[in-house]
Amino acid sequence: MIDYRFCPQCAAALAWTEALEDGGVKARLRCAACGFTHWNNPTPVLAAVVECADRGGQLLLARNAAWSGRMFALITGCMEAGETPQEGIAREVLEETSVQVDGVDLIGVYDFQRMNQVIIAYHALARGEVRLSPELAEYKLYAPEDLVCWPAGTGYALAAWLRRRGIEPRFMDLPRRG
Ligand SMILES: [Zn+2]
Repeated sequence: MIDYRFCPQCAAALAWTEALEDGGVKARLRCAACGFTHWNNPTPVLAAVVECADRGGQLLLARNAAWSGRMFALITGCMEAGETPQEGIAREVLEETSVQVDGVDLIGVYDFQRMNQVIIAYHALARGEVRLSPELAEYKLYAPEDLVCWPAGTGYALAAWLRRRGIEPRFMDLPRRG
C-alpha cells in the first residue's frame, strides 16, 4: 500500500521501472543506483477468534480505539521476526486483552487485497481476566450463535469457524473493514 520514495539500501530515489522477471516484464519501484526492488508483497496479518474457556465458551470481540463507529472485530496483529504464527497470535491476544491462550488451531488463510494483506486466522482457546491494551477501546463477549459476520477477510474466517461448530453464519449487509 505504501509507495516508498527512496531506496532503503542507498537512499537514491526509487522510480517505476520495467524489468524482465520470471513472470514476464513487470513495472515496480526500483533503484537504478543499487538494483533494489520494492516487491510490495502482501503482509501476513494474524487474526484470532478468541473463545473464552472460562466464560462458557463466549467469543471475545474488541473495538479498536482508532475506529469510528461501534464495530467489534477479531483480535489481529502482525508477526514479529523470530516467532511462529501460532506464537505470534498467542502473544497478540495476550498483549491486547491479557487473556492467556491455551492452544490455537488454524481456521484458514484469507485474502485482504485492499490493505495488501493476507490474513492467517486462528481459533484461540483462552482464559483469564480481560484487560485491554490502549489500542482497544472496549470488548464484548458473544455467544457464538448470536454473532453476525462481516463480508471481509476476518469476517469470513469467523463464518468458517461458526460452520465448523455447526452454526450457519449470518452476514451483515454493510461492507466493513477486515
Ligand atoms: Zn538503492
